Amino acid sequence: MQNANNISIESMVTGASQTYTQIKDTLDNLKEEGIYRSIDHELLCSRPKLSEQQTYHTIDEAIAQNGKNYMGVIYFHIPFCESTCSYCPYLNIPIANGKSVIDTYLDSMIKELSEYKEKFGILNASALYFGGGTPTSLTSKQIRKLFDAIKQHVTITDHTEITYEVSPVSLKKEGKEKLAALKDAGVTRISVGVQTFNKDILKECGRITSDEYTVDNAIKQIRDAGFHNVNIDLIYGLPTQKIEDFATDLTKAVALKPTSVTTYHLRLEDNTTFKNRYLNELGFKEKIPIYTNDSETIRMKIMATAYLERQGYHQMPTDWFVKDEGAHIAQYKKWHDQESLLGIGVSAYSSFGNGLKFKVLGNIADRMGSIREYISRITEGKPVIDSLKMQKKDERMDSNTALGLKTGVSLEQFKAVYNQELFAHYPNAARLIQLGALKIEDGELRLTAIGELLAEEVAAKLVQ
Ligand code: SF4
Repeated sequence: MQNANNISIESMVTGASQTYTQIKDTLDNLKEEGIYRSIDHELLCSRPKLSEQQTYHTIDEAIAQNGKNYMGVIYFHIPFCESTCSYCPYLNIPIANGKSVIDTYLDSMIKELSEYKEKFGILNASALYFGGGTPTSLTSKQIRKLFDAIKQHVTITDHTEITYEVSPVSLKKEGKEKLAALKDAGVTRISVGVQTFNKDILKECGRITSDEYTVDNAIKQIRDAGFHNVNIDLIYGLPTQKIEDFATDLTKAVALKPTSVTTYHLRLEDNTTFKNRYLNELGFKEKIPIYTNDSETIRMKIMATAYLERQGYHQMPTDWFVKDEGAHIAQYKKWHDQESLLGIGVSAYSSFGNGLKFKVLGNIADRMGSIREYISRITEGKPVIDSLKMQKKDERMDSNTALGLKTGVSLEQFKAVYNQELFAHYPNAARLIQLGALKIEDGELRLTAIGELLAEEVAAKLVQ
């Protein structure tokens, strides 16, 4: 069997550490113990529910506890896209519907940022991240204005990694000017949401494609603008996607010589077109090789890992494959050190070192209404946080450990910080190792390749 670039699938899986049968057996054993992904799965570990009532008083207190002079990642949510992808769980609206509110939305984000500046005194950014949404749906003028305003409130150094997410088709118009604006602003890393090179599958996903302006054109333009640190995002497990299609995606992505490739496994999340179709439309289930016990998806995972490693990409947390580790150090630190994250914009999520987590208002069932509500509350000087939680010490230990499995939880450090042995505190750890979902490596507890397929479910079981 060959992909569109005439590379055989068999050669792409050469060197895989485990066979398909071994992985399938392990997943079946995990399923018997209740560890599997169901249609109703929740992101309990990476996006815990925040239920406590918000009070500004509490946030101010929590921030005061965290100490002045914020240091960490600052995330900006730009909720405008060319169209809404059928799998997208994030709050966004098509740019055509949102044009009239973009400028006021950006002004509102800056006002929100300035309020944090006032509370903290200093906002030191270890990394800035612009996601969404599609941040390149902004015009070059809007990009320049946004960065000029941010720099008045945030301290950025030569070491601050600045990542900007790009969708290829959004560079079709004014791409050169947008990229020049990003370069002038000091953006150091571009993350390109390719998802798949297959136009038919992209259309199935509700994404806008262009015959004249391809991913190759976009990557060339990004390189010509002087960006060398480029990540490509791919998704596997999409409707109608076969292993040959994903093999083609991997070889095409590698041919473009990105510094990293991220391969996401499709999730069916609530309030997405795909999940609704999966639940309600006869025949859709056959189109989608859903969930981890599906043979096609497992083969895709094995192939991606084996092929990318052989192409010189080193696997970092879960499905992130990096060629030049130094170029991605800030992104890695964000995972590894679980730095504080301050989210700005509608529906943005924040998480602080002292256990404080909060979320800005945003209801995916009413996207435009949420954006308008965010703007109007900011304009009127009203709070925009709609849910907040100050984690207790035990909860913080659980969430740090659960999230830490992606990069490794040091047994020694666990003991030093929490004054107890990890295996004594989490009796499920030994069983998860026995089942092949977790492993000990270099004194750290980590997900295995199979555990990565069920990262949320394994983490939830560990801290249960
Ligand atoms: S481009 Fe990204 S943010 Fe926008 S709808 Fe698609 S998946 Fe969601």
